[in-house]
Amino acid sequence: MAISQELLEVLACPACKTPVELVGESWLVCTECDRKYPIKDDIPVMLIEEGDKFKDVPVEELPDPGSL
Ligand SMILES: [Zn+2]
Repeated sequence: MAISQELLEVLACPACKTPVELVGESWLVCTECDRKYPIKDDIPVMLIEEGDKFKDVPVEELPDPGSL
């Protein structure tokens, strides 16, 4: 896994403060507002404007964050 379990447990969606879930190895998904945060170079990008970009993208269609 790209990020540690300890880090994952403290990460929350900056928009609604809901804990995020790891999807695959490179996306963090908020189950409350559906924003999706990419993990780039092992660093979660927890920015609302970043999460907004992928709000309407189904998790199975999320791109590789390295290609963004
Ligand atoms: Zn959220």
